Amino acid sequence: MTRTNKIKIKTPIVEIDGDEMTRVMWKMIKDKLLLPYLDMNIEYYDLHIKKRDETDDQITIDAAKAIMKYGVGVKCATITPNAERVNEYNLKKMWKSPNGTIRSILNGTVFRKPILVQKIKPFVSTWVKPIIIGRHAYGDVYSNIEINIPGPGKAEIVFTPSDGSEPEKKTIKEFTGPGIIQGIHNTDESIQSFAKACFTYAFDQKIDLWFSTKDTISKTYDARFRDIFEQEYKNNWVEKFKYANIKYFFTLIDDAVARIMRSKGGILWALKNYDGDVMSDMIASANGSLAMMTSVLVSPHGYYEYEAAHGTVQKHYYKYLNKEETSTNSMALIFAWTGGLRKRGEIDGTIEVIDFANKVEESAIETIESGTMTGDLLLVAEESPSNRKVNTEEFIDVISERLHGKIQQ
Ligand code: NAP
Ligand code: MG
Repeated sequence: MTRTNKIKIKTPIVEIDGDEMTRVMWKMIKDKLLLPYLDMNIEYYDLHIKKRDETDDQITIDAAKAIMKYGVGVKCATITPNAERVNEYNLKKMWKSPNGTIRSILNGTVFRKPILVQKIKPFVSTWVKPIIIGRHAYGDVYSNIEINIPGPGKAEIVFTPSDGSEPEKKTIKEFTGPGIIQGIHNTDESIQSFAKACFTYAFDQKIDLWFSTKDTISKTYDARFRDIFEQEYKNNWVEKFKYANIKYFFTLIDDAVARIMRSKGGILWALKNYDGDVMSDMIASANGSLAMMTSVLVSPHGYYEYEAAHGTVQKHYYKYLNKEETSTNSMALIFAWTGGLRKRGEIDGTIEVIDFANKVEESAIETIESGTMTGDLLLVAEESPSNRKVNTEEFIDVISERLHGKIQQ
């Protein structure tokens, strides 16, 4: 295609680049599947770990602000530094999780939905429809305050009201030896917008909404989540849900986990931040591979950030650096781009952009269904003589050929 007949994206797309193997695949996806067909105005933010270090992490904040300006961003996976990474990249400090930083600025809900393909049956045989996870993306342990307790002493929790009234104080623990403490929080405003986002998504997709917390143990903290959801349902959704023939269902998280295993799927399962983090990995791997899970952060103000649910695939990257062959699955990264492009098309009212995003997804799914797949999928695919394992780049090349065929039609 020449530049003149490329599909024009009217509004800039915020692109957030990342680390390791996903950075390698990110470039291949852009070069082979997108740039040949799209005339895009890209607002580029490089969140490579060294760039975050050089800018004292300002680049991460700038990227989040750009999403607030333009509405839609796509993000590659990024390293969350730990002590090893600080050594490996010689970092000034152990920077916070970029996803955590972006989420706390956008204050949204993360929806994770598996990519279903015919060749790969979920490990749980009763699941015939996708189970979508709605993860609250604000607060709790992700913006915690922790203290190492060196020895005997008293740990307290205190709230000092701004109006000058008496502070409320409780003892956490009278320590007789070393230990640890942690303080976490959430806000009614954030929980309310989480509830609203979940009811809206479930109604939009016409699926049941389940919500679960540990409210039997956490009688104030988790119970507040339960009550806010209940109120949101009663105030705004009872009639709508009845009309759509869908249900809202609250249960204890233990019970929900047991029920999920016996369900048919086709549910939005709303979860607190940590529960959603953990359960989405379980749902992803039960659907074949971590690389078959898409993720979108939806903020109550209408900002969207699309990404893959998996990390930077560090082990594969070290092989790649050693010039060994890799077979890393780019599906979730491809779907991050198509999710962002489709949303951009919806907001801008550009049908041709939506149509292009659909064609890329179809090309990717058909590639796997015709038997061409990466190693992670070959392990879990239904056996067939047409199955063949390809390397990281070949997989994208085959998708690109199919896409080219569809665009020519
Ligand atoms: P990971 O990157 O998700 O990979 C864990 C393992 O899952 C891989 O070793 C691989 O298994 C498999 N896997 C994940 N994605 C795959 C793909 N696309 N294709 C094929 N196999 C895939 O998690 P990690 O290794 O624990 O974390 C690496 C880095 O990512 C860390 O620095 C972490 O901070 C970061 N991280 C970032 C995000 C994010 O930005 N959203 C999320 C999670 C983690 P095999 O080795 O068995 O093939
Ligand atoms: Mg996780």
